[in-house]
Amino acid sequence: MACESQKTSSPYENAVAQLKQACDYLGFSDDVFKYLSKPMRIVEVNCPVLMDNGSIEMFEGFRVLHNNVRGPGKGGIRYSPNVDMDEVMALAMWMTWKCAVVDLPYGGSKGGIKCDPSKMSAKEIERLTRRFTSSIINVIGPDIDIPAPDMNTDAQTMAYMFDTYSMGIGKTTPGVVTGKPVEIGGSLGRTQATGRGISYILREFARREQLNLPEQKVVIQGFGNVGSWTAKTLFDWGAKVIGVSDVTGGYYNPDGLDIDGLLDHVKARSTLDGWTGAGDPVDNEHLLQLDCDFLLPCAMENQITRDNASLLQCKRVIEGANGPTTPEADAILEERGIDVIPDILANAGGVTCSYFEWVQDLQSQFWDLEQVNKELERIMLAAFDAVYTMKHEKNISYRLATYLIAVNRIAKAVEYRGVGS
Ligand code: NAD
Repeated sequence: MACESQKTSSPYENAVAQLKQACDYLGFSDDVFKYLSKPMRIVEVNCPVLMDNGSIEMFEGFRVLHNNVRGPGKGGIRYSPNVDMDEVMALAMWMTWKCAVVDLPYGGSKGGIKCDPSKMSAKEIERLTRRFTSSIINVIGPDIDIPAPDMNTDAQTMAYMFDTYSMGIGKTTPGVVTGKPVEIGGSLGRTQATGRGISYILREFARREQLNLPEQKVVIQGFGNVGSWTAKTLFDWGAKVIGVSDVTGGYYNPDGLDIDGLLDHVKARSTLDGWTGAGDPVDNEHLLQLDCDFLLPCAMENQITRDNASLLQCKRVIEGANGPTTPEADAILEERGIDVIPDILANAGGVTCSYFEWVQDLQSQFWDLEQVNKELERIMLAAFDAVYTMKHEKNISYRLATYLIAVNRIAKAVEYRGVGS
C-alpha cells in the first residue's frame, strides 16, 4: 500500500489545505480562514482501565469540537492504534463541512481512543468505553456534542456511552449518542445508512451521466460497515462489484463477485481472508489499480496518494472513507480527468441517519424503515444536485464545489451570529 505521502502531509494539513482552497476561491478574508482552520475545543484524556489480568493500562482518548456555529457538534468515535490528535482534528473539521453539505443543524466533531481493540476482551473494551465517557461527560450531550460509531466502534459501544452518560447526569438521555441499538432509541436503517447514501450518489451520478447501472464495474476497498453495505446495496441494484478488500487483502472477479457469499464469509470468519468462491486474490495496492468504472475507497484515509494516483485505472472515484485521497493525489486525478466525489458528500448518509435518530430520540417518536430510507434518499439527492449544479456551472471539481457549498453555509452562519466580540 502506498503510504509515502503520510510522511509529508498529515490528515489535518490536508484538511486545512482543502479549506484554504475553498476560502481563496470564495474570496473570503483571511480572518474567515483563520477562524475555521482551528478547532473550537480540544479535549485529551488519559483513561485508566482494569485489564482482565488484574493490571491497569492507560489509554489516551481525544474529543475535538471543530465548530458549532450551526448546531451541536456531531461526529464519531474511533478505536485504533493509529488515532492521534492530528487525525481527530482533521476528522472533526471534515464533519463540520459534511453536516453543512447535507444541511443538517450540526457542527463538526470527532473523537477516538488510541487502542487496539483486536487485542482486548469485550469486558476490557466496555470498561475503556465507560471510563472514556466519564472523562468527557462535561463536553458531550444532546445539545452540546453528540458522538456516534466510527472505525472499530459499533452500536454496543454507543449503548455503553449512553448508559454511562445517563448514570452520570442522573437521567436517561438517548439523544447523547447516535448509532445505538434500535431497542434503546436507535434508528432503523442507521447501520446501513452510510453505504446506502454512497449507493444513492453512485446511482444518481450514473443516471445523470447516462450510464447503465448493471454495466458499471465497481471496486471497493474496505469491507467493514461502509464498504460492505455499499457493496450489498449496489449488488442488489444490479451493479457489478468486481473487487473488494479489507485489511487482510482482497478478491477480484471481472464478472462480478458474489457479495452475499462474501458477507456470509465475513460474518463467520470476521475478515475476507480465506474466501474460496469465484475470484482471484488481489492485494490492496493492486486492488486500487484495477480497471473499473467506479473506485470506492471505503477503508481509511491517505490511500490514494501522489505515489499511486497516476497508476489508477478507474474512470471515477467516490470516497466512502474519510480523507482517502491526499490533496497531491487529488490534483493528479483532476489533471487525468478522473472525477472524485468527495467524502464529505458521498459518506454523509451516516450522519444524516444519525440526525434522524437524534430527532426521533428528542421527540420520543419513531419512524419506520421506509420513512428513514425515503428521507435519506431525499437529503442525499438534494445535496448531490446542489454540488452537481455548482460543479457544472463553475467548471470546477466535485470536491471544490462541495467545499464551496459547505464553507459558504458556515460563513453565512458566522456572519449572522457574529464572531470575535
Ligand atoms: P469498519 O471498522 O467497520 O471497517 C473498516 C474496513 O477497512 C475493514 O474492512 C478493515 O479490514 C478495512 N481496512 C482497515 N485497514 C485497511 C487497509 N490498510 N487496507 C484495506 N482495508 C483496510 O469502519 P467503517 O465504519 O466502515 O469506516 C470506514 C471509513 O468510513 C472510515 O474512514 C470512517 O471514518 C468512514 N465513515 C464511516 C461511517 C459509518 O457510518 N460507519 C460514516 C462516514 C464515514
